[in-house]
Amino acid sequence: MAEALATAPAPRPAAAGAPLLQIRDLNAWYGESHVLHGMTLDVREGEVVTLLGRNGAGKTTTMKSIIGIMGKRTGSIVFGGTETIRMSSRLIARLGIGYVPEERGIFSSLSVIENLMLPPQIKPGGLSVQQIYDLFPNLKERSGSQGTKLSGGEQQMLAIGRILRTGAKFLLLDEPTEGLAPVIIQQIGATISRLKKEGFTIILVEQNFRFAQTVADRHYVVEQGRVIDMIPNEDMDASIDKLHRYLGV
Ligand code: ATP
Repeated sequence: MAEALATAPAPRPAAAGAPLLQIRDLNAWYGESHVLHGMTLDVREGEVVTLLGRNGAGKTTTMKSIIGIMGKRTGSIVFGGTETIRMSSRLIARLGIGYVPEERGIFSSLSVIENLMLPPQIKPGGLSVQQIYDLFPNLKERSGSQGTKLSGGEQQMLAIGRILRTGAKFLLLDEPTEGLAPVIIQQIGATISRLKKEGFTIILVEQNFRFAQTVADRHYVVEQGRVIDMIPNEDMDASIDKLHRYLGV
């Protein structure tokens, strides 16, 4: 069904003190397979929050549920005062939520600049191509290169840059550091910190809690499709034994 831009509900400013994103009793399914079992969490404006957990815990499914690409989901996901649980992914994106999937979604036959220009701008205030190149100078050098020719780190930068151009201010980043060299991980970490300073709100899926600790305010631990603990970043050092138990590392 075609959805005109005009039908997208304008997000209302969250009530004073209310979290920007409120998830309550979220359940989600892949076909018959029930994967999220009462996921509940909050994210305040300007926060960087991570979802930590073992493989298969439900972190990616939580991200997919927020952006509305799970076939079946129930419960409540309120973003900026708007209930989104029954909205299409297209309308949810128009509220200003950008999703960078684990597989990055770079079109291999298109160049860097073509990939950057692909997603439509959904909100005013998106970064210009020049601003994206300032943030990721490697991308500028590779502007004419095809997606297939990029390193994993360059692909990740392109996937993040592409979302920043759309004007989304709430970012869902799924394992942005996976498989990358330490120096590139550092660069991604610096970018996340810079985006936070500029007022972006970010949910980050991470396996690497050492990295998560360098960028985030709080950490939700996910197990079997629900949140089993929340650790403020300042308590991470004191929670190492617990984290090893949770993550099996
Ligand atoms: P990972 O880091 O391994 O992706 P995760 O915490 O992100 O872990 P999810 O990808 O959300 O986990 O997966 C949650 C559960 O849903 C797992 O049991 C997984 O096997 C299952 N699952 C994921 N994608 C699908 C799919 N497309 N169809 C059926 N089941 C799926």
